[in-house]
Amino acid sequence: MNNPLLSDNELPPFNAIQPEHIEPAITQLIEHSLSSVEQLLATQQQPGWQTLLQPLENLEDKIQQAWSPVGHLNGVAQSDALRLAYDNCLPKLSEYHTRLGQNKALFTAYQQLKDSAEFSDLSAAQQKVITNALRDFRLSGIDLPADEQRRFADIQKRLAELASDFSNNVLDATQAWSKLISDADELAGVPETALNAARVAAENKSKEGFLLTLDAPCYIAVVTYADDPGLRREMYTAYTSRASEIGPNAGAYDNSANMVEILSLRREMAQLLGYPTYADYSLATKMAPQAATVLAFLQELAEKSRPNAQQELQELRDFAAQHGGTSELAAWDLAYYSEKLRQHKYAVSQEELRPYFPAAKVLEGLFAVTARLFNVNIEADAAIETWHEDAQVFDVYRDQQLIARFYIDLYARENKRGGAWMDECRVRRQRDDGSIQLPVAYLTCNFMAPAGSKPSLLTFNEVTTLFHEFGHGLQHMLTAIDCAGVSGINGVAWDAVELPSQFLENWCWQKSVIPLISAHYETGEPLPESLLDKLLAAKNFQSGMQMLRQIEFALFDFELHQAGDINSAEDIQALLNNVRDRVAVLQPPPENRFQHGFSHIFAGGYAAGYYSYKWAEVLAADAFAVFEEHGIFDPATGRDFLNKILSRGGSVDALELFKNFRGREPAVDALLRHAGID
Ligand code: ZN
Repeated sequence: MNNPLLSDNELPPFNAIQPEHIEPAITQLIEHSLSSVEQLLATQQQPGWQTLLQPLENLEDKIQQAWSPVGHLNGVAQSDALRLAYDNCLPKLSEYHTRLGQNKALFTAYQQLKDSAEFSDLSAAQQKVITNALRDFRLSGIDLPADEQRRFADIQKRLAELASDFSNNVLDATQAWSKLISDADELAGVPETALNAARVAAENKSKEGFLLTLDAPCYIAVVTYADDPGLRREMYTAYTSRASEIGPNAGAYDNSANMVEILSLRREMAQLLGYPTYADYSLATKMAPQAATVLAFLQELAEKSRPNAQQELQELRDFAAQHGGTSELAAWDLAYYSEKLRQHKYAVSQEELRPYFPAAKVLEGLFAVTARLFNVNIEADAAIETWHEDAQVFDVYRDQQLIARFYIDLYARENKRGGAWMDECRVRRQRDDGSIQLPVAYLTCNFMAPAGSKPSLLTFNEVTTLFHEFGHGLQHMLTAIDCAGVSGINGVAWDAVELPSQFLENWCWQKSVIPLISAHYETGEPLPESLLDKLLAAKNFQSGMQMLRQIEFALFDFELHQAGDINSAEDIQALLNNVRDRVAVLQPPPENRFQHGFSHIFAGGYAAGYYSYKWAEVLAADAFAVFEEHGIFDPATGRDFLNKILSRGGSVDALELFKNFRGREPAVDALLRHAGID
């Protein structure tokens, strides 16, 4: 069989790839890679970049070149056969990476290279590849004594089980509660779409009426819109006590013991690796230098946002008192009156903005912004094959030289995964012959497709989404780094990944950019300034309260992973109460068990990392502030950002890159100003 995934191609041969090619290709590449690694290690006297790391990079790139189009097709053009082949390969790839990560001889070879005379002659990027690899080997417990290594492995295994139990409990608790309502009047205020969904949910259970559930869309619709405070309270209580010892399903899916065991094992694991707490362990792979920095950062944001949040709460209380409620806002009144107030102050619907944002115009504007900021030209390339007629390829040129490419696939359709994302197709790297492999990115969105003569029209949220994903794409495409491990989006610290994406979003909100990205599809008029003003005002609605809410979660997460004395669910509650006393402007009722459903930190990847959301926002706002000072299209500032941050990928520590650009540590002021908090 001539397998297109095994042949060398500049770009993936999408039309030739068939599901039956996938497993044989990936299996063969993995086997080849593993035996090549053994061979390489057996022949090394003194490991060097050219004799070990470059060949390793070649092997990894070969797998990546085969796997990237498979993963992409699984997202944008799925079929049963493709999905099956994809799913069958996942465990093989994960086992392959585990085997490499646990290969002691490989670890030793990296260490020898690090200790050799050659190391100091390597480029900064090459050095970073080696130190990152050594760090990751150590974090996987590879150089622990045998008994500790066994304990480490047991802990890992148990933590995986506990995370799964935690999220299963949340899921089961969510599904265990429902409420059938037969009289539509009891649901007064709830929007039509949510009512329809509730009617369908009832039908699916062969019932008549409206079935309310704790699934997020239904829960949010009821607490935000239902006029009946009794119903809001009932659902709020059911939702916020999920998977705990209280509430309508008290004790049935209780995560109390899971949380305590997770925290205790994480702490033990961190200490095995030499970190005093799990928070310190978490920061080993992040941009934030130390725990004290994270805490000070969150506390500063909280203090500065608090006066605004208090004002916003007072405004909300007054509004509620005047509109049928009382000024004693209960937790289940918050979303309801906030939505009423938001509509009252800034009624602007996303739908009414669509006609101003035809997709083609937005793209043209996005490319114009990019061209002015980073001195590149972007041109459509119709000659390159794609997986669907809606997908397009663009070439990126600087000084008439091709430097990168990207695929863009804008519209929702059948067999395409929802959402918007950027992914890598090819990474920039130096090949054995010294030539450079150019970076290639995928940009995927799910906008409404054109219909007849009506073009695809975007909401403003979708416009910012496109800029966001393109920001990720630019970091990948405009990289100047030649080592795959730290080139483009690779090797970037976890809490710095959202910097380029959130950074680029800023341009959507600029008065001078609006004419570039908007043109009414019938009249050609750009978005009126009054509508942009409304959008800006709406964006900052209750920004103080939202900020404090996120900080409450982030501080709870971080302090919890620092604490040494968590022995019971009561201890966790006490720590959360303590955070709330310091941060929240409105205390939730005592029966709120938010922590029992906080999957981000107990079952997801955000443990001692929830702060990253705010951290990245601060970086993006602070970097953009330089453009505000010098002009949003100032060429020198654009060049500076490109050369000092965007093009450096993961080759240098993210904090160092940021300081090189900004001339100082990140500061929160710009984010607060952008959020209307001064
Ligand atoms: Zn992002």
